[in-house]
Amino acid sequence: MRRPVAAYSVALAALVAAVLLRWLLDPVLGDFLPLVTLFAAVAAAVWVGGYRPALLVATVGYLVCDYLFVEPRGSLAFHFTRNLVGLIAYIVTCAIIIGIGEAMRVAQRRAQERWETLQVTFASIGDAVITTDAGGRITYLNPVAESVTGWRQDEAVGQPLDVVFRIINEQTRQPVENPALRALREGVIVGLANHTTLITKDGTEQPIDDSAAPIQDERGQVSGCVLIFRDITERKQAEQQNAERLATARLLASIVESSEDAIIRISRAGTIESWNAAAQGVFGYTAEQAVGRHISLILPADRADEEDQVLARLQAGEPVVTHFHTVRIRSDGQPIDVSLTISPIRDETGEIIGASKIARDITEEKKSEQHIYRLMTELQEADRRKDEFLATLAHELRGPLAPLSNALEIMKRADGNDDLIQQACNTMERQVVQMVRLVDDLLDVSRITHHKLELRKERVALADVIGQALEICRPLAESSEHEVSVTLPPESIYLYGDPVRLSQAFSNLLNNAYKYTEPRGRIWLTSERQGSDVVVSVKDTGIGIPPGMLPRIFEMFTQVDRALERPHSGLGLGLTLTKQLVELHQGRVEALSDGPGRGSEFVVRLPILVEKPEGHRPPGPTVSEHATPTRRILVVDDNKDSAESLAMLLRMTGNEVQLAYDGLQAVEAAEKLRPDLVLLDIGLPKLNGYDACRRIREQRWGKDMVLVALTGWGQEKDRHKSKDAGFDGHMIKPVSYTDLMKLLASLPSELVGQPTEHGG
Ligand code: ADP
Repeated sequence: MRRPVAAYSVALAALVAAVLLRWLLDPVLGDFLPLVTLFAAVAAAVWVGGYRPALLVATVGYLVCDYLFVEPRGSLAFHFTRNLVGLIAYIVTCAIIIGIGEAMRVAQRRAQERWETLQVTFASIGDAVITTDAGGRITYLNPVAESVTGWRQDEAVGQPLDVVFRIINEQTRQPVENPALRALREGVIVGLANHTTLITKDGTEQPIDDSAAPIQDERGQVSGCVLIFRDITERKQAEQQNAERLATARLLASIVESSEDAIIRISRAGTIESWNAAAQGVFGYTAEQAVGRHISLILPADRADEEDQVLARLQAGEPVVTHFHTVRIRSDGQPIDVSLTISPIRDETGEIIGASKIARDITEEKKSEQHIYRLMTELQEADRRKDEFLATLAHELRGPLAPLSNALEIMKRADGNDDLIQQACNTMERQVVQMVRLVDDLLDVSRITHHKLELRKERVALADVIGQALEICRPLAESSEHEVSVTLPPESIYLYGDPVRLSQAFSNLLNNAYKYTEPRGRIWLTSERQGSDVVVSVKDTGIGIPPGMLPRIFEMFTQVDRALERPHSGLGLGLTLTKQLVELHQGRVEALSDGPGRGSEFVVRLPILVEKPEGHRPPGPTVSEHATPTRRILVVDDNKDSAESLAMLLRMTGNEVQLAYDGLQAVEAAEKLRPDLVLLDIGLPKLNGYDACRRIREQRWGKDMVLVALTGWGQEKDRHKSKDAGFDGHMIKPVSYTDLMKLLASLPSELVGQPTEHGG
C-alpha cells in the first residue's frame, strides 16, 4: 500500500459515514439490520486501501454498531443464541466483500501497471504512437506523436482521431482513409500506405508512413486501436538524394562510356576496376580482358612503376605531376603515346582508395608535332643556309672583280708591253671563266631542282667526254702545276648521254681535285669497264674530307670549310650538280676519303651503251681561227660595252662588223647591210629582239639571213621563244670565243663573199 495514511483515513471516514447513516436510519430500521451500512464502508475501505483497512473497518464497525444498535443497546454483551447467526452472516458477507474488493484492486492495479509500462514503452519508442478507444477517440499520444502532429497530449485526448491525425495523399492531395479507423472497423492490422502526408496542427505537411493495429481485450473484443507512424522527411530526402545520386552516377557512367578518352579506375593495389569503351579502342583489350588485371598490363617494362609512384606520392600527400605525356603498350605490343591524367579517388573519410586515369591517344598529335618541329627546324636550317649562301655568293662574285679591275689597269698602263698584256689577259680570262661557271652552276642547279634541265642525249664516246672535261679544267691544272695521270680503257666505250652535261659532271670533279690539292700534287683520272658499267675515278692527294662530312658532301651548298676567307672559291654546288647529272644518266657517284690531309676519291659509275657503233663518226668541225672566212656581221645590243667588245673580238678575227643599239636600228641596219650573221640581243629598247627578228624574216631579203639570239636567258622556254620568233640559233651570254668561232665556222660557206644587196 503506497499511501497507507490516506487509505486508513478514507477507511475511517467511510466507517464514520456508515455509523452516521445507520444512526440516521435507526428510527426507520430500529433493531433490524444493525450492521447493514458497514458493508458499504468495508467495500470502500477495501477498494481504497486493501484488505487491512477493510478488516479494521469491519471489526471496529461491528463493535461500534453492536454497542449502538444491537439490543441491549449501550453494551457489548454477546447473546450467544440471539447474535451468533447475525455475526456469522456479517463475517461471511464482509469476507466476500473484502475478497472481491481485494481481487478487483489487484486486477485494477495490474491493469494500471500494465498501462504505465505501455506508456513508458510508447514514450521511449522512436516512432509516433497514438492510441484510441473503440470509438476512435484519442486516449494517448506519445511525445514523438506530439512533436510530429503538433498536438499536446492533453489537447488531443478525447478528440476524434481524424481531427488530430489528418492525412492526405502526397500526389493526389486528396484525403486518404485513416488506417486506424479501418483497423477498428475490421479488426485487422492495416499496413503502410505510400505517399501519405500528415497535415499537422499548424497546417504544415510532413511525409509519414503509418500502420495501425486493433487493441483487443481478453475476450477478443476490439477495445481500441494503436496507430504507429513516423516522420519520413529525412528518409524521403535521403531517398531523393539517393535517386539523384543514382541519376548522376548513371549520367557519369554514360559520359565515361561514350568518352573518346580511355577512362580507367584502379584500386590502391593497382588492379583495374573499370575500363570504358574508349580504353578498348586505345589499348586493344576488352573490359572483360582488362578488369581484374594489374595496371602493369599496359605499362612498358621500362615504366613499370610509373603509376605506382604517382599513386604513392598522392597518398603521401606529396606534390605530384598528375598530367603528363608518356608511353603505354597496346595489346598487340605496339607502344602508344598517351597524354595521361591521374586523379586520386577518395572514400567518404577522405582516404585514397584508388585512382582514375584518363588516357588520350596522342600518336597523331605527336606525329604532327614532330612534323611541325622538323619543318620549323628545317626552315631555320634553310634560312641559315640561305643567309650563308647569299654571303658566299656575294663573296664569290666579288672575288673575280678585283683581279679583273687590276688586269684592266695593267692593260691600260702596259704601254705596248705584250708580256704584261698577255698576263693580264690570262688573269681576266680565268676570272671571267670563274664567274661564268658560278652563274652557270646556279642556273643549272635551279633547272635541275625544278626538273627543267633537258638532256640532249646521243651516242657519245667516254674518251671525248673526259677529254672535254680535262680541257675545261686545263687553265686551273696548269696554274696549280699538278701532275695529272689519265688512264682510259683500251677499247672505245660509248655512253648514251648529253656530252656537254657529262663533261660538266667530270670537270666539276677534276676542278675540285685541282682546287683542294696543294700545288704540285698528284691527280689520277682512271676509268675501267666493270660489267655493263664504266667506272671513272678522280683521285687526288689533297686535303681530304672528314668522315663526318662524307654523307653530306653532295648536298647543295655543303662545304667542309665554310669560312668566307677560305682559300678556295666556290658556292658548294659543283658536287650537287655532278651527282644530279650522273643520276640523270642512270649513274651513281660516291665520295671516299681517309680523312683530312689524306686525299679524296670520287667514283662515278655509268651504264655503257651496249650496241656497237655504226662505223666511225665524222669528226666535229675543227676550230681554227685561220680557217674561218671573213663574214659581214651585225651585232645588236643596247649595252654598248657588250656590243663593242664583241665587235672588237669579231673584227680581230677578220670580220666586218656593224653595230646597232635598239630593235628598230637593227632592222634598218640589217636591210642596209644584208649581213651574213646577225647577233641579236633580246631585251632591246623600241623593238625587242623577237619582234626585230620577225620583221627581218618578213622581208624577202631577210628570209635566209642567219639570225642568232644572244641573251642572258637560257631556259628551254627561252630557246623555244627565240625559235618561234624565227632565230636560227640561241646563244647564252657571255659567249665564249671558242663558241663564237664554232658558230662562224658553221655558217654556210656559199655566203662567203656574196655581194651585199642594198634594198632599192
Ligand atoms: P665548292 O667546291 O664550290 O665548295 P662542291 O660542291 O664542288 O662545292 O664541293 C663541296 C665541298 O666538298 C667543297 O667545299 C669541299 O669542302 C669538298 N670537296 C669537294 N671535292 C673535294 C676534294 N677533291 N678534296 C677535298 N674536299 C673536296
